[in-house]
Amino acid sequence: MAKLHVKKGDQVLVLSGKDKGKKGRILRALPAEGKVIVEGINIVKKHTRATQRVQAGIHEQEAPIYSAKVMVICPSCKKPTRIKKSPVKKGEKTVWVRACKKCGELLDK
Ligand SMILES: [Zn+2]
Repeated sequence: MAKLHVKKGDQVLVLSGKDKGKKGRILRALPAEGKVIVEGINIVKKHTRATQRVQAGIHEQEAPIYSAKVMVICPSCKKPTRIKKSPVKKGEKTVWVRACKKCGELLDK
């Protein structure tokens, strides 16, 4: 399973496709497919049939996009950035967490 550089809750910038330049929050990461679902990005219309609970009609829903098409926006410097790994001491262990390549702020706390 490929590891994604982004995860649920990240604010990201879309780099290509019809939503290029838009920003959104990751709703779901799909590491098995290398894709993510981003709030308000890559909206597709789905025709649904009426069920007992739902009315028939057109529902709009986010479709997954490739994670390579998005860049994390650093919550600290507010810029789209690449990710580096920073070592953090946790007791006796050192864990590697994601950090902003521009300002060095840790993205995972
Ligand atoms: Zn930063």
